[in-house]
Amino acid sequence: MAEFSFELDDDQKAVRDWIHGFAADVMRPAAAEWDEREETPWPIIQEAAKIGLYSLDFYAQQYFDPTGLGIPMTMEELFWGDAGIALSIVGTGLAAVGVLANGTEEQIGTWIPQMYGDPDDVKVAAFCSSEPDAGSDVGSMRTRAVYDEAKDEWVLNGTKTWATNGGIANVHVVVAVVDPEVGSKGHASFIIPPGTPGLSQGQKFKKHGIRASHTAEVVLDQVRVPGSCLLGGKEKLDERLARARERARTGGERLKNAAMATFEASRPAVGAMAVGTARAAYEVALDYAKTRQQFGRPIIDNQGVAFQLADMRTRIDAARLMVWRASWMAVTGKPFDSAEGSMSKLFASETAKEVTAQAVQILGGNGFTREYPVERMHRDAAIYTIFEGTSEIQRLVIARTLSGVQIR
Ligand SMILES: Cc1cc2nc3c(=O)[nH]c(=O)nc-3n(C[C@H](O)[C@H](O)[C@H](O)COP(=O)(O)OP(=O)(O)OC[C@H]3O[C@@H](n4cnc5c(N)ncnc54)[C@H](O)[C@@H]3O)c2cc1C
Repeated sequence: MAEFSFELDDDQKAVRDWIHGFAADVMRPAAAEWDEREETPWPIIQEAAKIGLYSLDFYAQQYFDPTGLGIPMTMEELFWGDAGIALSIVGTGLAAVGVLANGTEEQIGTWIPQMYGDPDDVKVAAFCSSEPDAGSDVGSMRTRAVYDEAKDEWVLNGTKTWATNGGIANVHVVVAVVDPEVGSKGHASFIIPPGTPGLSQGQKFKKHGIRASHTAEVVLDQVRVPGSCLLGGKEKLDERLARARERARTGGERLKNAAMATFEASRPAVGAMAVGTARAAYEVALDYAKTRQQFGRPIIDNQGVAFQLADMRTRIDAARLMVWRASWMAVTGKPFDSAEGSMSKLFASETAKEVTAQAVQILGGNGFTREYPVERMHRDAAIYTIFEGTSEIQRLVIARTLSGVQIR
């Protein structure tokens, strides 16, 4: 039986400390500036690329860490540095994982390197699933992909929204409907190569938080891509559609949804981002409470403040443990019988919102100004309960998994 331990090994500690150094020395000093500019921090992505922190190799190494802790550890440190800049650094990973999960070896080898570019010419990628009328309700997706057999090309039309790096990406991965008769089973993912005519950026959103990360609509107008851009290939898609049509015709038993299993495995990473932001705000609040004097003593001398800090830290540690458990389950192939991946994302993201709000309160008037970073961290934390499935959707998934009832 494998030895049980909560301790990172020496290699993991070295990687964590290296990322922490980048987060503290490069990201933190630049965070307020890029938040105000509301632009992608290209020079910082480039610095990350130069030291190997923005590269396929680095993320692949962390992804395949046999303990499962490589990715959560990386996310926590980067998002401790700054959430907006960190999302600009890791946003490409969303698209890369989409290709890793569904693509052929050839597609993985061709497209993922183009998503990152190289240190002298860094690139980003975008994963485009959400639409104006299809956010939580992915089944309402309208973007259509139609196969033109004569030319062996797919033709895509539709509008995607909220895409991280949408329109500025070198490579876009777009989810589209190929068979509307079988609901979300009739969706497929496509690579849109650099410079493909018909793909354009729509509105760029001005946001409440994570403002250093670019979020925009992506418009697809008669976008033609070669057959080889269908992730997984046509044969696999045809087999999958045939099974889905047969089940729809016979009312056959629902197969365990592979997409749900993928979400259970990917959601802890978002939980780890939330832990990073929460920890950052907690640390600022703790330092402040020890130095700020009122009534002739540091404010931490008051139980009302000290107990808040105790609760903040307790919740952060509990969130991290849930994230680590789910990440370990994912890498060791344990079944998510209680939706532990969704649980970790739900708890960590709600923790980040709560803890950053408490940090603002502990800093009083200073917490409400942009002179102190907790104001930004509080705005940033609001994203975690929204993207990669809102808190309500996590509760829905957990409740359905626990009860076996299709709760609405
Ligand atoms: C900054 C940012 C970056 C993003 N990046 C990406 C990206 O890179 N790629 C991408 O594809 N998408 C991305 N998204 C989209 C994100 O995943 C969606 O915003 C999210 O899934 C919620 O969808 P929605 O905004 O349409 O909200 P809606 O689905 O309209 O939900 C609105 C509210 O209703 C609640 N609700 C909805 N249905 C139910 C239900 N059945 N039961 C209870 N409550 C319910 C929700 O929880 C929420 O509170 C991003 C979003 C943001 C804000």
